[in-house]
Amino acid sequence: MGRIFTEQFAFSASDSVLVIGLGRFGSAVAQSLVRLGHDVMGVDNNGERVQVWADKLTHAVQADSTKESVMLQLGAADFSHAIVAIGGDIAASLLTLMVLTELGIKDIWVKALDHDHGQLAKKMGAHHVVMPEADMGERVAHLVTGRLIDFL
Ligand code: ATP
Repeated sequence: MGRIFTEQFAFSASDSVLVIGLGRFGSAVAQSLVRLGHDVMGVDNNGERVQVWADKLTHAVQADSTKESVMLQLGAADFSHAIVAIGGDIAASLLTLMVLTELGIKDIWVKALDHDHGQLAKKMGAHHVVMPEADMGERVAHLVTGRLIDFL
């Protein structure tokens, strides 16, 4: 399959993606990527989460993503795309981002819980920051407003 060029990064359908944190957001992204035909390695330090997703992803590994040596051993440096989907523990999210940057991953996405988290992630080298709760909240507000206008 051909490469799809976006203004930020060229994404090939065969590219493998590293998804770190298999909570609600990370697991949804990972599963969608698998459905789209990508190889996905999911990493979570919670063994139960890894068990749940083991059959549904290409690989699911229990590991602490803040440890560079561990991530190196897992082959994380071979991935061109990574998603840090750790929201609750900002320190773990940013440490993981540092590790991925050190490993030279070219396209790193970070899920941020709030604006400060997102700003820090950008300053520390994240290529993309997403804030699903804030973004969806804004979208719903627009949708609700649209509906209200329809009723006026
Ligand atoms: P959700 O996507 O469910 O809203 P969240 O934003 O609240 O999640 P957390 O639940 O804090 O984020 O983290 C998401 C996942 O990341 C969890 O499954 C957690 O076990 C995992 N995680 C947290 N710290 C690490 C770490 N250092 N290494 C690997 N995985 C981690």
